[in-house]
Amino acid sequence: MSTAAIRTVATPLGPLEMAQRQFAIAAEALKLEEPIRLKLSQPKTCLTVSVPVRMDDGSVRVFTGHRVQWDISRGPAKGGIRYHPDVTLEEVQALAAWMTWKCAVVNIPFGGAKGGVRCNPKEMSERELERLTRRFTSEILAIIGPDKDIPAPDVYTNAQTMAWIMDTYSMMKGYSVPAVVTGKPLELGGSLGRREATARGCMYAIENACRHLGMDLQRARVAVQGFGNAGAIAAELLSGARATVVAISDSSGGIYNSRGIDVAAAIRHKAATGSVVKLAGCEPISNADLLTCDCDVLIPAALENQITRENAGRIKAKIVGEAANGPTTPEADDILYDRGIFLIPDILANAGGVTVSYFEWVQNLQELTWTEDDVNRRLKTVIDNSFREVLGLAQKHKVHMRTAAYILGVGRVAAATRLRGLYP
Ligand code: NAD
Repeated sequence: MSTAAIRTVATPLGPLEMAQRQFAIAAEALKLEEPIRLKLSQPKTCLTVSVPVRMDDGSVRVFTGHRVQWDISRGPAKGGIRYHPDVTLEEVQALAAWMTWKCAVVNIPFGGAKGGVRCNPKEMSERELERLTRRFTSEILAIIGPDKDIPAPDVYTNAQTMAWIMDTYSMMKGYSVPAVVTGKPLELGGSLGRREATARGCMYAIENACRHLGMDLQRARVAVQGFGNAGAIAAELLSGARATVVAISDSSGGIYNSRGIDVAAAIRHKAATGSVVKLAGCEPISNADLLTCDCDVLIPAALENQITRENAGRIKAKIVGEAANGPTTPEADDILYDRGIFLIPDILANAGGVTVSYFEWVQNLQELTWTEDDVNRRLKTVIDNSFREVLGLAQKHKVHMRTAAYILGVGRVAAATRLRGLYP
């Protein structure tokens, strides 16, 4: 048995291997020429920095941070910043690759990037997080900027984190530069609708899938893994659209109620206790069991590698809408497809976030403020059109939605790369 085969049996794929495998499938389908395949299969820039931070007790800790720009052929690099104890360079690279294809799938003029700091924000005070953010920003300052690379929030970062980045960058420049980040507070040039955009885009994509499959969303039972910006708001919006949210979870565990969870009460409960667990009237459910619970729509909205070949055969949902990045492994993709489960891939299902980030950046550069209705209407057009294009390619090539989305996204980046040619 080859080493690769042994590893496949023994350990799950890492996110970068997953991203590379997904890219290779698209490159093959597109018959990409070797130089373009080589260029697009690796990151353009990886910057790893050490981030010394004075803690509240006077001691100094040194964290490791990364900023990766995968490709900028179609415009400035764009991607979130994650604070999590499991952050690695490989994970940030995978997330940067996914951002590249995502921006191309929804046809917004950005390349792909991602950042991350390996830390446990739950164990840090607000002041420590501010010092960490400001120092990390100054360490990556040379490669970010409104025309270069524009960060946004991701796991365990938020609008306040973006405000600190914007302030640090602006202090270095000597004038205010709101367009250096998106997902900012409204008071600093954030866009109406950005907070809800990832979840709203996911809901629009699920509505399209329901229409395609002849399903009634109002009769659908929904399970959501992860209850942060993407997951909690998706649960809230879908419950507002009269779907029944039967299961939700966060890093501490999950809750289930076959008659429907009061999502607003769950949000209040999480704000008060730090978790959704023990919400009155609900049974406990583990994160693993939530994925295979009896539901019609499953929304993974936490981390990578959740739907694998171990559990894909037991998923009961008819639609999987990937609010998270990289929650499904390539083996699981094939199992779900063979079982007739309709998966809306991350690079389409969660593209609402970067789409409204693009709207925020456009408003900042033009010093305009759009209404929330305007933002949501434009977002719906982008998601509806992209869904139609991806579905059309899936039907034409007889492939699942992920491969179709890759054919669209990678194809657009390859076309831009080909047109620009090789410098010098
Ligand atoms: P967040 O920090 O707001 O929320 C993360 C949630 O996941 C929290 O509820 C946390 O408790 C939960 N969680 C963490 N580990 C978990 C585990 N092991 N099992 C179950 N739940 C767990 O982060 P977010 O912004 O909502 O990001 C969630 C996912 O959505 C990530 O994959 C992110 O890359 C993706 N995403 C986010 C955006 C955005 O605009 N925020 C855009 C596109 C994609």
